[in-house]
Amino acid sequence: MRDVFDALLDTVFPPACIACEAWLPADSPGAFCSSCHDEIQLVRPPFCPRCGRPYRHDWQADHLCGGCLLQPPAFSMARSWGCYPRESDVTHPLRQVIHRFKYGRQASLGKPLGRLMAQACQPWEPASGFDLIIPVPLHPRRLRWRGFNQSVLLGREVGRAWRIPIDPFILTRKTETAPQSTLSLRERGPNVRGAFVIAPGRAVARMGVLLVDDIYTSGATLNECTRVLLRAGAGEVRALTLARTVS
Ligand SMILES: [Zn+2]
Ligand SMILES: [Zn+2]
Repeated sequence: MRDVFDALLDTVFPPACIACEAWLPADSPGAFCSSCHDEIQLVRPPFCPRCGRPYRHDWQADHLCGGCLLQPPAFSMARSWGCYPRESDVTHPLRQVIHRFKYGRQASLGKPLGRLMAQACQPWEPASGFDLIIPVPLHPRRLRWRGFNQSVLLGREVGRAWRIPIDPFILTRKTETAPQSTLSLRERGPNVRGAFVIAPGRAVARMGVLLVDDIYTSGATLNECTRVLLRAGAGEVRALTLARTVS
């Protein structure tokens, strides 16, 4: 029923690029027009099989990155749809759209962005082995400011596409931490340590969990959430983000 309604809406309001608002052809596969899409660097192999960090040169084979060799993350695997543009690249379509989503509080972007995320990991056979999607929680104060948790909106679309239930109430953020983006990479781990707890009475024992967040930067937030879930008995935790920084 929902699909019929969506199709009807598309006829009345033809879909537009979520970045530049150019009209999209009816058979357009994605949310971005082709010229905006061309500017976005997708995360593709070769990459680190653990944290999903892509390597610049096509001739390299997949191999663990230095960070994962030195200090393996708690999650077994992380993947992302696109590379997050550099700070200086302020007009980049992906940066603009994520900014409007998170700071312009444009909740309607959750759906097209979540669909892109769901497409991101086809070779990963994403639907296998997951019992539950858990979005990275926001502190209630930030949730009140934004009016929605961007990770819940993204996770909902991934769950719809892959037919995995989502539970945004299992994991909660008990302390308000400084935004990771304001800290150095070294400060990010300690900043989120102890920030998350499992809600009383919720169980994750032996479950295959897919953690969903908007941006992977240092991996510290996803790592801390994973530690809490594994301590509560989760079987395996993998992570999926819309974008990831590539340093
Ligand atoms: Zn565009
Ligand atoms: Zn790695």
